[in-house]
Amino acid sequence: MTSTGPSMNGSTTARRAVLISGASIAGPALAYWLHRSGFAVTVVEKAGALRDGGYPIDIRGTATEVVRRMGILSRLRDAHIDSRRCTFLDADGGEIASVSPSAVAGGVEGQDLEVRRGDLASALHAVVRDDVEFLFDDSIAILDQSERGVDITFRSGRRRTFDLVVGADGIHSPTRESLFGPEEQFHRYLGHCFAIFTMPNTFGLSHEVMLWNTPGKAAALYAVGNNHELHAFLNFHRPKPPFGVLRDPDAQRELVARTFAGAGWEVPGMVKAMCDADDLFFDMAGQIRMPRWSSGRVALVGDAAYAPSFLTGQGSSLALAGAYLLAHSLATHQDHTAAFAAYERDARGFVAMNQALVDNGGSTLFPTTARALEQRDTRLRALVTLPSAPARPAYTSLTLPEFATRPMP
Ligand SMILES: Cc1cc2nc3c(=O)[nH]c(=O)nc-3n(C[C@H](O)[C@H](O)[C@H](O)COP(=O)(O)OP(=O)(O)OC[C@H]3O[C@@H](n4cnc5c(N)ncnc54)[C@H](O)[C@@H]3O)c2cc1C
Repeated sequence: MTSTGPSMNGSTTARRAVLISGASIAGPALAYWLHRSGFAVTVVEKAGALRDGGYPIDIRGTATEVVRRMGILSRLRDAHIDSRRCTFLDADGGEIASVSPSAVAGGVEGQDLEVRRGDLASALHAVVRDDVEFLFDDSIAILDQSERGVDITFRSGRRRTFDLVVGADGIHSPTRESLFGPEEQFHRYLGHCFAIFTMPNTFGLSHEVMLWNTPGKAAALYAVGNNHELHAFLNFHRPKPPFGVLRDPDAQRELVARTFAGAGWEVPGMVKAMCDADDLFFDMAGQIRMPRWSSGRVALVGDAAYAPSFLTGQGSSLALAGAYLLAHSLATHQDHTAAFAAYERDARGFVAMNQALVDNGGSTLFPTTARALEQRDTRLRALVTLPSAPARPAYTSLTLPEFATRPMP
């Protein structure tokens, strides 16, 4: 286990101690705002180190304001991917339409950002790493809460007691499972599975996305710059969730290869690259919907509590805004029960509106029937021929409360 940041010694005992599980987006954002509000924060992350690179994610609307208040907006603007076009292809690889990515994804050009997930995680980590304790290559093994606090036994064997614990450990959150039970109760399957992996950019693509569709199947090549690597994405409709393959990479490869057998365009090469890839990420497109996000001294934030699915493009934005609102509630209410209730009250409507966006994303990018695909293609062709409409975000925003004390310089 690797520990970085300040050690937990006598100097922190007077402050309320919070353990956050997960050091991706929601975890470090929450750590930042809690530290600024006087909490002693520890973040535990199961990976051995911060993971850089990764697939592109969006930072939009309210989340842009959160990162501005954290002082990292200009760093993220520098990391902006700036995709210039999205080209839609038919079954044989013929071009249907080439449009601006914001016309499809619903972002606002010049305001919203698209960065690699790892670039956002690094920027967030950079502003907290000197003030917050990070425990890499470790995780919570036993969580035992009482009136007095939460006793944690880590996988490494060390034991500590915290006032509060927050699960920021993603859509398959182990903290959620230990508190509320199996994921199946809260997972709303959206009828798609996907595989994402990197492969060589032998196509000369640069700052662009190529998206191939047949009914119920999609293959995308995403060139985030003009480097030698592409993000490849294979998505397919499947009425029932294949829970059985979730922990079995060989079964995942086999399922994807079988689904895309006989497909046109560059798909056979992509399937071969997937079989050779050492960074395959397979999952079901789904949302987490829970009746409440806390139990006793433990709460959830980000995907762990309310994953909206990549179809909305709002996962990272909800994680950032949710972390801000949770920290604000804890900073405002001394009593954690009141704080968690205020967090839910402030965030739930915003979460619900963003989760409801899912149908837009699915029908544009992944039509499941020949008729829906035809209608989608007609809309795309109209986008090319009609004069472009003023940018209008497809997501909803929220006015953020101010922290009582301004962040320290
Ligand atoms: C293919 C794909 C494309 C996406 N595209 C977009 C997009 O365009 N726009 C967008 O906004 N969002 C997108 N998302 C979603 C986005 O990545 C997530 O919504 C966002 O990362 C959520 O952040 P999080 O911090 O809540 O969770 P995660 O980013 O999932 O982080 C969870 C962290 O917890 C750690 N962890 C897990 N278990 C443990 C444990 N037991 N102990 C300690 N640590 C643990 C993990 O290693 C990880 O670091 C996409 C997701 C995928 C998969």
